[in-house]
Amino acid sequence: VDSVDEDCDYLFKAVLIGDSGVGKSNLLSRFSKGEFRLDSKPTIGVEFAYRNIKVGDRLVKAQIWDTAGQERFRAITSSYYRGALGSILVYDITRRKSFENVEKWLRELREYGNSDMVIVLVGNKLDLSHSREVTEEEGRNFAEAEGICFMETSALENVNVDRLFLDMISKIHEITS
Ligand code: GDP
Ligand code: MG
Repeated sequence: VDSVDEDCDYLFKAVLIGDSGVGKSNLLSRFSKGEFRLDSKPTIGVEFAYRNIKVGDRLVKAQIWDTAGQERFRAITSSYYRGALGSILVYDITRRKSFENVEKWLRELREYGNSDMVIVLVGNKLDLSHSREVTEEEGRNFAEAEGICFMETSALENVNVDRLFLDMISKIHEITS
């Protein structure tokens, strides 16, 4: 849909991080292509996807990076974070362990990332709330204590996915303009 030479006022990078299996790749494909995959394989990942978004009267091109499964081996390198203005840190609301690991991801983000990076904590798989292991309040309180944004999403049912990316993008725009 997007062409490289299309006129845009801003180009910025954002990254997806979080444990393997939490739904990062599906959040991105839902946002960038409107697609969801039940059988997505952790080892097959895109490097990044683009989407152009109108913010006010400006055209912003968001380049969103996804891991190619290297998070399983804790092998994400500093170059992944380099230059990123936004970060979406995802856990799975049905897997407590993925929430506990958020602290570790946040530490890595703060070590390698920009100090003024916009960070959104995301509890994904909201459609599976019957087997929830992390309450919404826990997620929200943690985010508040860390001074970052928070949202629960479902890539499967397309709940809050656009809002997540658009909120992050307009926050980045506020900071950079
Ligand atoms: P990643 O390893 O973080 O990139 O996670 P994936 O996007 O590959 O998703 C891992 C698994 O969770 C796949 O089987 C997806 O179909 C599933 N999944 C991802 N998002 C959701 C969601 O919102 N709801 C449900 N029920 N399953 C999801
Ligand atoms: Mg993935």
